[in-house]
Amino acid sequence: MKILVTAGPTREFLDPVRFLTNRSTGRMGYAVAARAAARGHEVVLVSGPVSLTPPEGVRVRRIVSALDLLEAVRDELSPCDALVMTAAVADWRPASIATAKLKKRGVPDDAAAFVRAADGASATLRLVPNPDILSELRSLKGRRIFVGFAAETDHVLEEASAKLHRKGLDLVVANDVTRPGAGFEVETNIVTFVAPGAAPEPLPLLSKDEVADRIVEWLERTVPGN
Ligand code: C5P
Repeated sequence: MKILVTAGPTREFLDPVRFLTNRSTGRMGYAVAARAAARGHEVVLVSGPVSLTPPEGVRVRRIVSALDLLEAVRDELSPCDALVMTAAVADWRPASIATAKLKKRGVPDDAAAFVRAADGASATLRLVPNPDILSELRSLKGRRIFVGFAAETDHVLEEASAKLHRKGLDLVVANDVTRPGAGFEVETNIVTFVAPGAAPEPLPLLSKDEVADRIVEWLERTVPGN
């Protein structure tokens, strides 16, 4: 089967040197790509900025922002049987990107997102929403299998199930990022598989490679004709 995986954070620039981002290291997505390739699948990995070595046998396409990610996934999706969206996409981006560095005092004319108070004592950054990539691609889904992630801090299963329906997914891999051994910047994860019409399937504490294997096995069982 041919699998498209997204991984890592996005960077949302506000001037040539500054950006908004998040704690994603890309480990979960790189693990899915590596395990899928090791099990003989063809894998394209669309990766945000991370400091990981690309997995062997995987074609990597690098992106920076959420808008880049949307364009790359749109480009790569058509020949794929499945999309696994582990990328931690920034929900917001600055309303504009200044072409020159914002200075402590002078703000360039095109720094429309950076609004300094009249007395200069504070400033406000104006943000606009990024597109939700899974929802945007829903009309292109066809028979493809879409897997999303839900990193939550509370009401994990309710949130995961809401996401499943709102984004039209076949599987949500949910985790409570407040639990020790789960979530960002650790080698392990504690996840629950949430799929339509099935009871939630909690998995034990596993390495991210083992979670990746479970996801690929789930795809092998689910993708038609595989
Ligand atoms: O809504 P939330 O960000 O919690 O959903 C997480 C899932 O949705 C992940 O699979 C993530 O990759 C995906 N996502 C997306 N586009 C966004 C934000 C998240 O596809 N703008």
